[in-house]
Amino acid sequence: MAELRGGIDLGGTKIQAAIVGADGKVAGEARHPTPTEGGPEDVAAAMATALREAAADAGTESGELAGIGVGSPGDADEKTGVVSSALNLPKWEGSFPLGEKLEEALGAEVKIGNDVQVATEAEFELGAGREFESLLGVFWGTGVGGGLVLGGKPWLGRGAAGEIGHMVVKRGGAECPCGRRGCLEAYAGRKAMEAEARERHGKGEKTDLFKLMEKHEKPRLTSGIWERALDHEDELAEELIERAVEALGTGIASAINLIDVEAVILGGGLGIRFGERLMDPLTKEMGKHLFVNERPPAVRVASLGDLGGAIGASLLVAS
Ligand SMILES: [Zn+2]
Repeated sequence: MAELRGGIDLGGTKIQAAIVGADGKVAGEARHPTPTEGGPEDVAAAMATALREAAADAGTESGELAGIGVGSPGDADEKTGVVSSALNLPKWEGSFPLGEKLEEALGAEVKIGNDVQVATEAEFELGAGREFESLLGVFWGTGVGGGLVLGGKPWLGRGAAGEIGHMVVKRGGAECPCGRRGCLEAYAGRKAMEAEARERHGKGEKTDLFKLMEKHEKPRLTSGIWERALDHEDELAEELIERAVEALGTGIASAINLIDVEAVILGGGLGIRFGERLMDPLTKEMGKHLFVNERPPAVRVASLGDLGGAIGASLLVAS
């Protein structure tokens, strides 16, 4: 039997665990909502539960795995396994030894990496980026994250490369969740889009977004709610999605002007849901800003889907 590795993608809304074979195939999986209360200890406990369930789904136990990789938000230190400033997670402003805690709970070696970077590498190794040597991963979801592979190798800079969500697409523009102004994420991040929709709705603009949210019993405007609103030709939803696509096209094209990679891989909750549907307007927006317009980069939707983050995390474990 091929050696199995574990992968956990720690997201702001869900924890996705997968058991992955040496060939990159998923042998088992499980998903849990990310705790919204408590603190890092509670999040770590939910992660351990998800991984144990995924192992059971694959017919094994966590202690039998070759190792477990974790794709984490915030500042994830690969050497120490400590995660700091994971601001989308409950009471995680400080530092927490996530790797150590999970090793204790699961009885296997644990490696921690950056969530977006591991998802980018998964697409590069096994997914939509397989045929390319250099690519930019853009993960359009709660925020807008990015990852880079240049000349076949991950590029982390000094640890913080790839933050395409905080490239400035409009000087002095909308306020970003990071506290600065005019970032791409201020226009395209799901969280920022929801805040904008709420504010405009409060001022009397008509929209069914929040009615749909209640009807489907969602705590927030999920990518599925945005899709339903678009299907109903909700004007505010259409306007805000169009605004997001303009910002994405501007930010991505600016990044391409700098690094000229072969491909852009579009992932994340919104990216996967809307990638194909919005491909034409997105590439059109990019075209307005590409300095070398004659050979635009290939733009592909991430093909590993929701499991890409967990599969990418499993790649952190040496085979
Ligand atoms: Zn920002």
